[in-house]
Amino acid sequence: MSGYRGSALQVEHPCPQCGGPVILEETDRFLSCNYCHVRLYIFSKDYFRYYLPPSKHPESDTIFAPYWRFRGLYFSIRPFDIKNKVLDTSFSASGQEFLPISMGLRTQTLKLKFADSEMKTTYLPNQLTVNEAISRIEKMTHFFDSHEYTGRIFHKAFVGDTVSMIYAPLYIRNRAIYDGVLDRPIATLTQSRQECLEQPVGKTAWRIDFKPALCPDCGWDLSGGRDSVVLLCRNCDSAWHSVKGTFRKVDFRVVRWRDRNVIYLPCWRMSAEIEGVDLKSYADLVKTANLPKAPKPEWRKKEIFFWAPAFRTHPHLFMRLARQMTILQPEGDYNDSFPRSAFCPVTLDSGEAFESIKVTLANIAVAKRKFFPKLPSVTIRPLKAMLVFFPFTVEGNELVQTQLKFSIQRNTIGGPEILATS
Ligand SMILES: [Zn+2]
Ligand SMILES: [Zn+2]
Repeated sequence: MSGYRGSALQVEHPCPQCGGPVILEETDRFLSCNYCHVRLYIFSKDYFRYYLPPSKHPESDTIFAPYWRFRGLYFSIRPFDIKNKVLDTSFSASGQEFLPISMGLRTQTLKLKFADSEMKTTYLPNQLTVNEAISRIEKMTHFFDSHEYTGRIFHKAFVGDTVSMIYAPLYIRNRAIYDGVLDRPIATLTQSRQECLEQPVGKTAWRIDFKPALCPDCGWDLSGGRDSVVLLCRNCDSAWHSVKGTFRKVDFRVVRWRDRNVIYLPCWRMSAEIEGVDLKSYADLVKTANLPKAPKPEWRKKEIFFWAPAFRTHPHLFMRLARQMTILQPEGDYNDSFPRSAFCPVTLDSGEAFESIKVTLANIAVAKRKFFPKLPSVTIRPLKAMLVFFPFTVEGNELVQTQLKFSIQRNTIGGPEILATS
C-alpha cells in the first residue's frame, strides 16, 4: 500500500526455502514466494540494511559507503503555522565530503540486496544519527522554501514508515575512487581518503531472519498485509508487533459496529507524560483547544490520550485525523475480538506515532503565538500505546466513520488491495 506517492525501492532476495528469486518492496515485511508459496515474516534486530550491488567490479573487492534512507512525514513548526511534507530521500552517513550527499535516482532503477555482516567486503562506518542526517537534509535542500529559511523553528518531527541503511559500492582504480554502479571516477585518491577507505571496521552482527508468522500464543497463522508492522491472530484474538527480532503482544480494541460490511482502520491511542505545558487533564485540553464546551469539574481528573493514524497516509490527512481524534477523545464501545470484517494493515509503528504528539499539540492549540514558543521546552515521555480499530463504511469514494461523524477520501489510504481480510 502507498498512502502517498513516493518511491518504494525494490529488494531482491532468494526464497529462504526453495532459493527461487523473490522481489520485495522495501516496506514489505512478508516475503511471499511464487514458486514454493512459502510466506515468511522478515525480522531485523534494529533497522534493515541493504546494498546496491556493483555492476561489474567484483563484490569482494568493493568498499561500501553508508547512506540513510528515509521515507515518511516531516513536520516543521514555525511562526505561526505547521509545514508538512513527505520526505523520500537518501543521505550520506559516512561523513566523507568526497562522496555524493545522496544516492540520487540510482536506487529507483536497481534492485537492492540485504546486506550481511558475513560478506567479505569493507563497510565504511556510519557517522551520522538519523536526526543529524534529517537536519542536514533540511538545511541543504531547503525543502520547504525556495531559499534558505533563517527564521525560528519551534519544533521538527519526522514520522517515518521507512528508516533503513543502504550501502553504495565504491572501488579504487588508477589513483581514483570509482562509483561501483556507474563505473565512473568520482574523486581522486588522496592519502587521507585512502586511509579513510581502508580504516578497519568493527565487527558487526547484523542479521535478518525469515520466520513463519505464527501466533506465539496459539500457533495459528498471523494475518496482515505485506507491509504490516503489527500482525493479527484471528484465532485467539491477539495482536503482535515485531520488536528486536521477536513478536511482542500489542494491546488493542475494536470499536463495536452492528454490520460486518465495514473496513476497520487502525489508530494509536497514546498516553504520555507531558512537562513544560499544562496538559494533564481533559479540562486542560478543552482550554488549550478552546472547545465550545461548558467545563465540568470531573474533567480535571479525566486522563487525556493522544491519537494518531496507525497507517501510512498523506501528511495533511495524518495531521487532520490526529487533531480530530485527540479533540474528540473517543471512548468507544470496545470489543476485544476481531469481527469478520476487512482490516486495513497497521503500517506505522507506535514509536513513530509518539513522534507526532508535539505536532498534534501545536495543531490543537488555539493561542499559537503563546503556545509555539513553549514547544522547545516541552518534554514528552511516552507511556503506553494501544491500537484502536474504527469501523468505516464505504460510500462511493469516501470512507465514513459514523460514530465520530467524519469521513476521509478512500484513495488517501491506498487502493482496495491494502485490505487484509484473511
Ligand atoms: Zn520458495
Ligand atoms: Zn493466536
